[in-house]
Formats: sequence, structure tokens, C-alpha cells
Amino acid sequence: MSPLDPFRAHSRIAYLTMEIALDPLIRTYAGGLGVLAGDTARSCADLRLPIVFVTLASRQGYLRQELGPDGIQIDHPDPWDLEGRTIPLDAAVAVRIEGRLVWIRPWLHIHTSSLGGAVPTIFLDTHLAVNEPKDRVITDRLYGGDATMRLKQEVILGIGGERMLRALGFEIETYHLNEGHAALLPLSLLRRYPRSSARPSEGPVSYDLDSVRECCVFTTHTPVEAGHDLFPYELVKQVMGEFFELDQLHHLAGPDGLNMTRLALNLSDWVNGVAVRHAETTRKMFPGYRIHAITNGVHASTWVHPLFDELFQQVAPEWAHDPDMLFRADRLPDARVWAAHEEAKAALIDETRERVGLTLHSDRPILAFARRMTGYKRPDLLFSDLDRLRSIASRYPFQIVMAGKAHPNDRDGKAMIKLIHAHARELAKSVPIAFLPAYDMNVAKFLVSGADVWLNTPVPPMEASGTSGMKAALNGLPNLSVLDGWWSEACEEGVTGWSIGEDGSPASEHARNLYDKLETAVLPLWFNDRPRWVWLMKQCIARIGSRFHSQRMMRRYAAEAYLR
Ligand SMILES: *Cc1c(COP(=O)(O)O)cnc(C)c1O
Repeated sequence: MSPLDPFRAHSRIAYLTMEIALDPLIRTYAGGLGVLAGDTARSCADLRLPIVFVTLASRQGYLRQELGPDGIQIDHPDPWDLEGRTIPLDAAVAVRIEGRLVWIRPWLHIHTSSLGGAVPTIFLDTHLAVNEPKDRVITDRLYGGDATMRLKQEVILGIGGERMLRALGFEIETYHLNEGHAALLPLSLLRRYPRSSARPSEGPVSYDLDSVRECCVFTTHTPVEAGHDLFPYELVKQVMGEFFELDQLHHLAGPDGLNMTRLALNLSDWVNGVAVRHAETTRKMFPGYRIHAITNGVHASTWVHPLFDELFQQVAPEWAHDPDMLFRADRLPDARVWAAHEEAKAALIDETRERVGLTLHSDRPILAFARRMTGYKRPDLLFSDLDRLRSIASRYPFQIVMAGKAHPNDRDGKAMIKLIHAHARELAKSVPIAFLPAYDMNVAKFLVSGADVWLNTPVPPMEASGTSGMKAALNGLPNLSVLDGWWSEACEEGVTGWSIGEDGSPASEHARNLYDKLETAVLPLWFNDRPRWVWLMKQCIARIGSRFHSQRMMRRYAAEAYLR
């Protein structure tokens, strides 16, 4: 009897993802994409969807961030205990990479929902003695290495993943490609289908494209051209050899190189963006494709503070299964909402003291900004005018907590972290600023429940969705954010939070607008009208918590994409 038996007969959908955040101790995620995949798995278990997840072992994790003096990011591997946290399965498949056979073995993790359901995740691992040393490390480091390494990892995920599912005895009807990283999967499927006579509209391609498309669902996450993996065909030939005829690949993946997004678009019948705004952006970037919109959501019972969970149970006992019921949150007693918040805030203050030695005040509002440190997220926008910040703080004293990693190769991102540390020193007397190192699920939980306001300042339309603000709203934090991604759908001015700038207003005006909002709306309300502030907190839970959750997201995927 294999631990896979209960799932093998049942699973009809496979979800392929380069990263997944199943558990804080399973370090196979870098950020939002992985947290989304983890929340997806948790909701699938709650809803008992017949699905199996496939990802890479990423034995060395992504990146453990250490911050040196002056905010210099020091990159460390972030290994996890694959052998201790998963079960080895008796199977192996091979893919050909640079002419060599590379063997892959599977490890199984089962996530069990507190509501009783369970979903399996298969981790693909090339760390095998039969493989050459340089092939053993392919599945070591998430997003590690150069373009060649990235393509090899995508071969393991897409082609290896498809073969592994088959070797393990799954009979998959729908493959869900989470981002373009898995787009080699439909190519692998294509090779299994007999060639049919070419249709004129398909040019020289003579594969049975329709059969493959029918079983592929693709979610794109990237609203900028540069964000899509593009591999030169020379490299493709070097790594993948004759796996697929290059002239045919040109047709499916674009003439300028293998564009993984274009490949996935051409080989999936059902494509979606991760927010309404993002689907619009994708339609402009890739005209001619039908792009649906299923806005992301978060797994509510994962991200809610235990005290808010308790409160929610009182107005909606079934809320964890069906967070729609959180619309009743406006009935919560004000005093208990504020008390729960104060406790979550005390926990964040303790955690901040322990991690960076700074003691924040419980009687002043905390602004939180936590996300990947990279150019378009503009973590430095808040510091555009230090004098203005000082002047606001002299009337309404506030404090800031930040967190976020820069990708090891992102020099601008790393420079931003240093710059923020420099600003923090300059502002030390007027605005306490803490930068918590090693942002991950655990740090996120403290921040999204313990801060008072959730800040987000991307350059539109670069934020595909964003999900951390949803976690914050679920814990009663209003968002103060640029209208982009999910926030364009959720912002009700002065009810669920505030917008920075108008829809479409120039990015150059955002800093001034941010300061104006802080000074005239956000901070005066926090200091002078506590009942109204608590009313706002309850609106966040009732209007956002009840809608932007992954139960709703997966019900939509199931009904609209999987059961199409
Ligand atoms: C939720 C989460 C993210 C994604 O948040 P964004 O709003 O997309 O920036 C990234 N990292 C961690 C650790 C998270 O918990």
C-alpha cells in the first residue's frame, strides 16, 4: 500500500508550480507566487478538490536574508529537511538535458486541512547518485543560477512533471500551469498525441494542438514584458536537443526566442490573469488571446490572527470553510475588535524588539510595508521627502515596520534596502523605522495582523495582483495603496482604506499624494476618531475578508476552468 493510493484514483487535476509555500518549514518559495500556490493547496484541501500539486524539491530553498550593518543584504542558502518532511515514493523518470539522461525521483507531502480534506504535493528531485554532480544540483536552489539553469529547472518541472505524474499512475484530465515556468508540460503532452493533418491556420504545425489545449489551464502573473522567461533558441537546442522541432517551436513560442508565456498561451484553452486590471494589461501585451480574470485570494484561516478567528466564529461558525460569511463582521463588538488588534500589535512589537532591538510604541500607529525589494514596488517612495515625513510625524507621531528580500542578482533591490537603512538612521529621532530581516510566512503573519495600516506603492500596472493587503484586511487593517492589481477592485475610499493617487494619475505624483493622505485622512482618523477607525476595521473584514479569499478563487477555478 502506497501513501499515494487514496489520491491516485481520485486526482483529476495537476497543478504545476515552480514554488509553493505549504509550510513555513518547507522553504520552497520565494514570495507571492509561492504563497499563492500554498494558499491554493490549502483551499483545495478544505474544498476536497481532486488535485495533485507538482513542484521542485528546492533542497537549498530560495534565500535566507541576513542584513549586515548599513543594510547590506547577505545571501545565504535556506535549506530544509526534505527527507524529514516528505515520504519517498518508488518511482523514477528521466529527461534528457544537454544530451545526458537526468533521473528524477519523487517525494510526497500530504497537506491535511483542519476541515478534513487532504491534497498531495510531489517534489521533484535530481539529487541522485546516478546523476552527474552538475545534474544533481538542478533542483537545489529556487531561481538560483543563470538562464541555462533556469531552463533546466523548467525542463524538470514541465517535462519531468508530466512524466512523473504518469509514472505514479495518475490519470490527469486538466493541467494547471501556475505561471509560464511549467509551459514545457504541454509540449511534452503534444509529443504523445498522434500528428493530425495540418490546418492552414496552424501553419506548419502538425501536432494535435486541440487535444492538448483542451486539458491545459494557464494562469499568467507577470504584467511586464521583461518578466517573462525568454530563452534564446541556441540555448534551447543546447539544453533540450531534439526534444521538439525548432521550426515548430518558433511557431508556438515566438520567433525571438522561446517565450514561455507565449508557449503557454498557445497551448492552453483557458487562460487567466490574477486580477481584473492584470487581465486587461495581459490582453494589451498579448493581443488575440482570450484572457479571463480570476482575482487572487488568500487562505483566510492561515492568515487570520487566532483572536480574530475566535471573534469570527461567534458571528459565523462556518467561516473557515466559507469565508463569504465574513460579511457578518460588521456585527462584531467594537471593544473586542480593538482588544484583539491591540494583542496582535503587542505581538508584532515584541517580535520587532527581539529581531532588531527596536521598541515600538503601542499607542502610536504602525505603517507596514513588506514585499519583494525591487524597483517597481518602490519601497523607497515613502522616503521621497524626509522633511515632509518629519513634519507629519511632529503632528501625528507614527512608526514604520518594513521587510522584504531582494533577489540575489537584483542590485537595485539591494541598493534600496541600504538606502532605507540610511533613511531610517536619519529619521531615527522623529519616525522609528524597523526593517525585519528574512521576510517569510512567519514574519508576514506578525505584520499583517499587528500593524495598523498596510502600505503598497507599486508603479501601475506592474502589480499583477498583490495578496499581502488581503491578509491585512482580514485582520482589520485598512490598506493605503496605489490603485493597481487587486486594490483597484477592493478600494472603497474611507471605507476599506485609501487610494494613493487617482486611477491613472502619474506615478510622479504618488509620493505627494501619499503624504497628503497620511496627514489629512489616515493619521487624524487614527488619533481623533477611534470609533470610526474600528468601524473601518470591521468594513475591511466584512467587505474584503469575505471576498478576496482563496476559497472563492478555487471555487471559480473549479467551475470555470477545470470543469469547462
Ligand atoms: C503574502 C506574501 C507575499 C505576497 O505579497 P504581495 O502583496 O504580493 O507583495 C510575499 N511574501 C510573503 C512571505 C507573503 O506572506
